[in-house]
Amino acid sequence: MPIDATLPYDDDNIFAKILRGEIPSKKVYEDDHAYAFHDINPQAPHHILVIPKGRYVSWDDFSVKASDTEIAGFVRAVGKVARDAGFVEPGYRLLANTGPDSHQEVPHLHVHIFAGKPLGPMLT
Ligand code: IMP
Repeated sequence: MPIDATLPYDDDNIFAKILRGEIPSKKVYEDDHAYAFHDINPQAPHHILVIPKGRYVSWDDFSVKASDTEIAGFVRAVGKVARDAGFVEPGYRLLANTGPDSHQEVPHLHVHIFAGKPLGPMLT
């Protein structure tokens, strides 16, 4: 179900539990600002999620409340994950669903990285 991204941060969301190590994930990368792991239901040959370590519901929440250091660290981490995975030359797609119309389901900001085939045009 899409979430209401205007709600306060919920510490029981599934990605908060992954960050705390309470449920397993297939880790790709971690640093002070970000954690990256494989999506459990991949929509492309490679489908990685990158999340900030801070408590941010959505891209909008993050863009307003996060410090410049957190934002820079997170953006650099997304780029590094894609680069280290070898996605730059063939190409990749980033996606951050934000709010109910986008069908955001998990209320902790996550950037999807899709790669591994020609992805075609965006559907909408
Ligand atoms: P959203 O629709 O942008 O919120 O994307 C949520 C994503 O989280 C979906 O692609 C799900 O497959 C993924 N997901 C949900 N639970 C887990 C999990 O426990 N591990 C990894 N990915 C998950």
